[in-house]
Amino acid sequence: NQQIVLKSRPEGWVTPDNFELVEGRIPEIGAGEFLVRNLYLSVDPYMRSRMNDAKSYVPPFQIGEVLEAGVVGEVVASQNDKFKEGDVVVGMFGWENYSKSTGQDVMVVERGAVPLSYYLGVLGMPGMTAYAGLVGVANLQPGETVFVSAASGAVGSVVGQLAKIMGCTVVGCAGSDDKVTYLVNELGFDRAFNYKTCGNIAKTIAEMCPKGIDVNFENVGGEIMEAALWNMRNYGRIALCGMIANYNDKEMSPGPRGLGIMIQRRLKMQGFIVFDNPALNMEFVGKAAQWLKEGKLKYRETVTEGLENAPAAFIGLLKGENFGKQIVKIVD
Ligand code: NDP
Repeated sequence: NQQIVLKSRPEGWVTPDNFELVEGRIPEIGAGEFLVRNLYLSVDPYMRSRMNDAKSYVPPFQIGEVLEAGVVGEVVASQNDKFKEGDVVVGMFGWENYSKSTGQDVMVVERGAVPLSYYLGVLGMPGMTAYAGLVGVANLQPGETVFVSAASGAVGSVVGQLAKIMGCTVVGCAGSDDKVTYLVNELGFDRAFNYKTCGNIAKTIAEMCPKGIDVNFENVGGEIMEAALWNMRNYGRIALCGMIANYNDKEMSPGPRGLGIMIQRRLKMQGFIVFDNPALNMEFVGKAAQWLKEGKLKYRETVTEGLENAPAAFIGLLKGENFGKQIVKIVD
């Protein structure tokens, strides 16, 4: 049972030597438990925070312990009535070939309806995040203008398409010209720009959102968030989803500056966690499965092969090397 453990905590940027590949035992199962052969593993930005020894809504990873992730796997042995051999399940398991579970927070999913990795992306946590933020937090209304950062990623790509389905104008930014072209030509964004090459970000947003932004779906923080703030309309809402620009900071960085604009424009900003509203998440999965079938929702992944390459995939994600949802394929 190959396993990846946390070897050391990163100081600043994550490096490959923060991880170690070890050979462990295949766990033995007892009454009420089942054994899962892990097929696909999800690497996600929030894992960076779990590498720090800091309190958060999920506990930190511990040094010497196997890292944890969203995983799709197949039940290969079971002493639990609810999970049968051959079932495909999604849950939080280890960065390893085999994990055991009691079934808590584990879901059986349908085999064959969509590629199994989709349950870690568009039909999983990132897709749910998009819906939770737009519908649950920002109360998006038809006809409004939405701005989303990290727009080609797992969450952002669903945010933009959802907002289009809801009859909104959508503007996004991403870190390469290829990603920008994809947003407009494939995903149907009204406008998009490369934040690395556009020059003045606030000015670019102003040109692309001439009426201003009603809803900012914030994935990045830092200067992009600051630029979006300056372009908010009166009574605009900011769904504060993530601040990936700061995740590798050694020291907390100041900003965004100019928060006073929130008073002037009567803005509302709310942070949220995807699991705040399970009913909304289930509502999304039902709708998204249908939209996927109808071709209304498009989805793209970057698939890295091999458990041993999970650290590299994760590091790449933090640097923007992924195009769409970053997945690690352990085995078919
Ligand atoms: P993505 O698939 O979007 O991958 C991360 C992307 O962030 C990179 O590809 C890169 O794209 C972009 N990025 C990285 N660093 C920077 C930077 N300094 N400035 C601008 N962009 C940067 O990840 P997810 O869709 O999974 O996550 C997006 C955000 O949502 C993250 O902040 C994450 O923490 C948050 N999140 C929050 C949840 C919640 O419950 N609140 C749940 C899930 C995710 P590019 O090439 O465009 O720079």
